[in-house]
Parts: sequence; C-alpha cells; structure tokens
Amino acid sequence: MPPKRADIWGSFHQSDEKPNGHHYRATHWRCIDAERPSTVAIDIELENNWELMKNEEWFEAALASALSKKKDVNGEKGAMAAHLRRCELATAEEKALATRTAPTKREREEAEKREKAKRKQADDGEGDVEADDEGIGGSIRKFALARSGLMRPDDLHQTHHLS
Ligand SMILES: [Zn+2]
Repeated sequence: MPPKRADIWGSFHQSDEKPNGHHYRATHWRCIDAERPSTVAIDIELENNWELMKNEEWFEAALASALSKKKDVNGEKGAMAAHLRRCELATAEEKALATRTAPTKREREEAEKREKAKRKQADDGEGDVEADDEGIGGSIRKFALARSGLMRPDDLHQTHHLS
C-alpha cells in the first residue's frame, strides 16, 4: 500500500505505472464511481475513503471504462486541478481544493488585488480600521478568502473560535 496521499491526490486514483516516466496517471474517483454498474447500490463509505473502491468487484471494469473515456489526466497538480474545475461530478469542496492547489492566473490576481486593497486601507489609516487581523477588516478578508476557496471553511471556523 502506498502511503496515504494528502490533498488533491485524495480525489484521484493513482496508476501503478508512470507511462511517461515522470508522472502517474490520475483518475478522479468520482469519475470511476460513475462507471459503477447501475445494479450496484451507492456505498456511502466510499465517500470517506475512495481507496476502498479497489476492493469492489466492479472496480477494474469501472476504471477501464473511465480510462476508455479518457477521464484520466497526468498526475500533476495543474492537470488534476483542471480536471476538478471542469468535471461536473466534482463537489464544491473539490472545486475549492483545485483553487487552493493550483490557482489560475485570474484567481491569483484577484487574491493579490484584495491584499493590496487591504494594505492601502491600512496605510491610509482610513476610518480607524485596525490593521490587526482580529479586527473587522481581518474578518471580512477571511470571509472573502473563504468564499474564493483560498481558505478552508474549517480554517474560518477555527479563526472565529480564536477571536
Ligand atoms: Zn471527474
């Protein structure tokens, strides 16, 4: 068993081989699950540990079917994030994961713009807004980051508890 993969790999099945010599092939678990025979009931446990799918009788056929539909991508952050962005089976969490893992140029620019606006406000000393992150400005920024998917909802949760 390979060690448990963190982050974006958690959403993807990893091929045994590296066909190009550099990268494994990555296949979105939900895209493989979509090839499950219709006679097999949905197993909610799989959602918590996709690796369990490998034990299912139908797994090899479902994987082969997903591969025949070219659902696999290079096991490289950008390509995997791109799959999650365009895949209609990807959840909101997975889309946010894609943004965190490999932000597009536009997402990076928007994050920078927000940062710049915040710094400018602090420099101008407009309205006595505290530069302190625990102030209202900080909370709004965290909310914006959470909405853009750059911060995990649980981070937001945690910060609220701390403040
Ligand atoms: Zn997919």
